[in-house]
Amino acid sequence: MQNLTRRNFLKASGLGAALWGVGGMRSFAAEARRKVIVIGGGWGGATAAKYIRLTDPSIEVTLLEPNKEFISCPFSNLVLAGVESLKNLTLNYNGLRKHGVKIRHEAAAAIEPDKRRVRVGKDSLEYDRLIVSPGVDLQWEQIEGLAAAKDTVLHAWKAGPQTVQLAKQIQSMADGGVIVMTVPPVAYRCPPGPYERASMIAWYLKTKKPKSKLIVFDANKDIVSKTGLFKAVFKDYAANIDYRPAQKAEKIDIGAKEVTTDTGDKVKYDVVNVIPPQRAGAIAVEADLVGGDKRWCEVDHVTYESVKQKNIHVIGDATIGLPVPKSGNVANAMGKICATAVVSLLNGKEPPVLAPGNTCYSWVNDKEAIAVVNAYKIENGKVVQIEQKLTPSKSVAVAQNSLAWRASIWNDMLG
Ligand SMILES: Cc1cc2nc3c(=O)[nH]c(=O)nc-3n(C[C@H](O)[C@H](O)[C@H](O)COP(=O)(O)OP(=O)(O)OC[C@H]3O[C@@H](n4cnc5c(N)ncnc54)[C@H](O)[C@@H]3O)c2cc1C
Repeated sequence: MQNLTRRNFLKASGLGAALWGVGGMRSFAAEARRKVIVIGGGWGGATAAKYIRLTDPSIEVTLLEPNKEFISCPFSNLVLAGVESLKNLTLNYNGLRKHGVKIRHEAAAAIEPDKRRVRVGKDSLEYDRLIVSPGVDLQWEQIEGLAAAKDTVLHAWKAGPQTVQLAKQIQSMADGGVIVMTVPPVAYRCPPGPYERASMIAWYLKTKKPKSKLIVFDANKDIVSKTGLFKAVFKDYAANIDYRPAQKAEKIDIGAKEVTTDTGDKVKYDVVNVIPPQRAGAIAVEADLVGGDKRWCEVDHVTYESVKQKNIHVIGDATIGLPVPKSGNVANAMGKICATAVVSLLNGKEPPVLAPGNTCYSWVNDKEAIAVVNAYKIENGKVVQIEQKLTPSKSVAVAQNSLAWRASIWNDMLG
């Protein structure tokens, strides 16, 4: 497995020259220590916290993250099919500590933009710049019966205990059983994620429980991402997968073990996986960082500063308006670009103009994967897509590349 060095990774991601350039601007002036608080130690926040310290160690960075360990959503669909273990997807935060990031394993309770403070427990922490990367929250109330049943109806859309529980439910189901999975309307975390999940579950059924069926109710009109590639994969699993587009889950009845859709269809299940509609993490909503839709945060495409609140930057899945997917790869790129912008702004410099990039892998069986690569540029201050390339078909080589990708990007975030 290839493990890229940080410098090589930066070169490959096109961010190298710019970031190392900003690193040279360290200010040793006898000014008060500048403070940055980062909310959320996931793909966006962990990267931003690390890169601010790397770029300007005179800046104090405090990361607020309730979880003691990082668990990767990418590759968690493989756990459901027994192809990967959650242990292999679990990393610690020691690397960030070595870079001098102060970590408090607590949730930010509130943001006070006027006072430039974040409330954590009984403390109020002051900041010069705040970076908010809280990921997504799930909108239980959008599906009748789900809020009351949310502890037993699993989403597994935040990798962790639910991933393991759902894997157990699927693997202990009798052959001949029915799994119902629901896909929310866009925008949601990881556009290809539900279809990767469907592929991995269908592969598991085909190879281990051939009389069983996976019914996928998709609220969207068609497969949202890597459409042609997933359609070809679903054909391979035709005996075990029943994909039903333009059918939004409306109601779940855990007593009757039944899902009802907006077209009036009712289907009984043995195992159910409801991926609810989503919005930005609660802290962003409560701090009024979200737009008119009350769901997602609009930001400046160069600095990631909120269009609603000065000195507060939002990155990762919580953002909207950029033509990029809600992916870990994009959140990582945003983390680096935002870190550079924040260091520049705190040093009285113009932030460099940098565009993110995206490579997204989806596994479709125990050995093969497909992928999409998106390239972007900044035009008139906005991110625009230059091109998108898809792999021609599923292959072992792409799956192997994804393992190299994960090793290098996890190291880039947390190493
Ligand atoms: C099944 C699945 C498969 C996926 N596969 C891929 C893939 O192959 N490739 C890819 O690029 N992406 C993939 N993704 C998407 C990727 O996981 C997300 O895009 C990424 O996690 C977004 O990063 P983020 O920083 O916005 O949010 P997260 O990584 O979710 O981080 C948010 C963090 O904020 C913390 N937090 C929330 N509120 C607070 C608060 N008030 N105070 C402090 N901390 C807080 C949370 O605990 C969390 O750790 C996948 C997602 C899923 C669900």
